[in-house]
Amino acid sequence: MAPAAANYYSPSQHGAKQRGYRVCDQCGAVEQPTVSRFRLCGGCMTTQYCSQDCQKMHWASHKAICQHTSSAKQQVVGSGAVDEGLVKGLRKFTSAHATLLGWAGFQALQLKRLPANVRQNALLVELSYRPSASDPNRRFSVKGTHIVPRTYVTDNDPLVADDIRRREDRCRKSGGIGTAVILVQCGEISQVMPVEVDSPNRISWDSRDDWDDVLRHFVESGRTDFAPISTTARGIVYG
Ligand SMILES: [Zn+2]
Ligand SMILES: [Zn+2]
Repeated sequence: MAPAAANYYSPSQHGAKQRGYRVCDQCGAVEQPTVSRFRLCGGCMTTQYCSQDCQKMHWASHKAICQHTSSAKQQVVGSGAVDEGLVKGLRKFTSAHATLLGWAGFQALQLKRLPANVRQNALLVELSYRPSASDPNRRFSVKGTHIVPRTYVTDNDPLVADDIRRREDRCRKSGGIGTAVILVQCGEISQVMPVEVDSPNRISWDSRDDWDDVLRHFVESGRTDFAPISTTARGIVYG
């Protein structure tokens, strides 16, 4: 029997161990999940910091992209009325499912085998919205997933393109392969999630081609406790 792709049926007991890509946007420190969780910027819910001091220090240079990301108007792809509840809901969704989305992007772009793909393509996750769902974690479901050229994201948004380039430079300097781009879209509202990816030999995540099913399962059931499986010398671990 094939091993599960993830903690599909039961929540992991081990917690996250190897999310080496979560770095403080100010000082570049790597998150050690067993010590303390990084704080998310409350504005964009995308950028992470190791401490309040780093967050304060970074604000002057982060302000533009932060306000751009959190501004509803900027996120509308076409024209039409902006649903503030949907915009906020989408940001919360992206933040709550950050590990799952990062893992799905890693698998969809086949980065273990084809690291250069990180610069060519992006994962587009298309969602549908159910505002009436009583559980806020179940207001979205996955309508479809698509691999799109990364220029789909960067060409029409220079601020986002700059932010991705900055993360990419930093990531490569520390030996990583670059920044994976995951685009979450619901109707005319979209949110970009950049994920800095370590070099393939430092990533122990198993390659999986059932990432689409796993993604749908966790989103559909409103579970935010996803942890990827890694096969290491110590055996199979979650994280
Ligand atoms: Zn820091
Ligand atoms: Zn921010």
